[in-house]
Amino acid sequence: MQKYNSQQLMDIEHQYGAHNYHPLEVVIAKADGIWVEDPEGKRYIDMLSAYSAVNQGHRHPAIIKALKDQADILTLTSRAFYNDRWPLFAKKLAELTGKEMILPMNTGAEAVETAIKTMRKWGYKVKKVAANKAEIIVFKDNFHGRTTTIVSFSTDPDGHDFYGPYTPGFKIVPYNDLKAVEKAVNKNTVGIMVEPIQGEAGVVVPDDGFLAGLGKIAKKNKILLAVDEIQTGFCRTGKLFAYQYEDVNPDIIILGKALGGGVLPVSAVAANQSVLGVFKPGTHGSTFGGNPLACAVAMAAIDVLIDEKLTERAAENGAYFIARLRELQKRSDKIKLVRGKGLLIGLVLKKSAGRARQFTMALKEKGLLCKETHDWIIRFAPPLVITRADIDFAMEKIREVLI
Ligand SMILES: *Cc1c(COP(=O)(O)O)cnc(C)c1O
Repeated sequence: MQKYNSQQLMDIEHQYGAHNYHPLEVVIAKADGIWVEDPEGKRYIDMLSAYSAVNQGHRHPAIIKALKDQADILTLTSRAFYNDRWPLFAKKLAELTGKEMILPMNTGAEAVETAIKTMRKWGYKVKKVAANKAEIIVFKDNFHGRTTTIVSFSTDPDGHDFYGPYTPGFKIVPYNDLKAVEKAVNKNTVGIMVEPIQGEAGVVVPDDGFLAGLGKIAKKNKILLAVDEIQTGFCRTGKLFAYQYEDVNPDIIILGKALGGGVLPVSAVAANQSVLGVFKPGTHGSTFGGNPLACAVAMAAIDVLIDEKLTERAAENGAYFIARLRELQKRSDKIKLVRGKGLLIGLVLKKSAGRARQFTMALKEKGLLCKETHDWIIRFAPPLVITRADIDFAMEKIREVLI
C-alpha cells in the first residue's frame, strides 16, 4: 500500500469525505493504551478516548484476543437463529447492571431509540395511555444521538435545525430543575430520559439529589426513568455507572460506547422483564444486534473493567487530575472552572482567554489530544488505564499552555 503523510490524508478526506466533523489537525495511524501515533511517528496522549468509547485503552490485549479468537470461529448469524455467544453476553450484562433483561443493538443512538420505543410501548400496554399520546420528558442541552427522532428534541441548533418535520411527543425542561420536571408531568407522561452528567453539553454535573429526585417523581407518577449512561457508564465517572452516586434505581439503563471496548460498536438497553417484556417477536430488532463477534468483544470489555479495577482507578486518578487542574486554576487567569467526576472532566475557560480551539491546537503541538466542546470548554477524558505519572506528564503540558 502506498504511504501517505498526514497532510495528504487530510486533503483526501476533505475532498472525498463529507464535512460533518471538524477534526483537530492530527491523523492517527496507530494506538496502544493511552498513546496514539501519527504517520510521521509523533506520539500523543489520547485525552478524549473516542468520546469515552476507549475506557479500557486502545487495543487492550484481552479484548483484541477475544476479537481475533471469535473471528476465527463465528461472526454473524442474525437473530433468526440462536448463537452461542449472545446468551452469555446477555447474562453477564444483566448481572452487571442488576437488571433482568438485555436488548442488544449496535450504536448508542439505536439504544436510545430502543429506550424510547420501550417507554412508549410500556405506556400504551401497561400504563394504558391513550393511543399516540405518550410523552417523554427530556432535558435542555441534552445529547442522545443523531437519528431524526432523537434530534427532534435536541436544543442544539447545529444538531437540530433543517431536519424536520420533527417527531412529536417530547417535553423539554431545564436540566437540574426538579420543579420543572414536576410541572411537565401529566397523565400521558411515560418516561423521563436523562444523562447523569451532560457530557456533550460540556461536562455539566447536576446538583446532588437531582437523579434521586427524578426517581421519586417517576415512582410517584408511574413513569419510567431512563438513564443514558452511554458516555458516563462503565467506570468513566469513578462508579460503574454514574447514577450510582445517587440513591436511585432507574428502570432503564442505556449503554454503548465503552461496551464495545474501543473495538466494535456495541450498545444495549438493560431493564426488568416488566419493562423490556413489552417487546414480542417481530416488534423490534437489528440484524447485527447480538452478533457473536460483538458479544465476545463486549464480554472481554466488561472483564477488563472489573479485572483492572477501572472504577477505583478512575475515581482516584480522576480526583487527582481534577485537584491538579484546580491548583492550576488558582495560578492561571484563563480558567474559569474545573468540573466533572472521575475521569470525565470539563475545563471551562474565561471568555477573555479566547476560544477553546486555540488551546486544543496548542496542546496537540505538545502531544496531548483534547477536543473542545462548544467554544469555551476543553474536555479531558483519557482512557481509564492512565497512570498518575501520565497525568503528571500531561499536567506539565497543560500548564505550559494555560498559564
Ligand atoms: C455518544 C452518545 C450517544 C450516541 O451514541 P452513538 O454511538 O454515537 O450513536 C448517545 N448518548 C450519549 C450520552 C452519548 O454520549
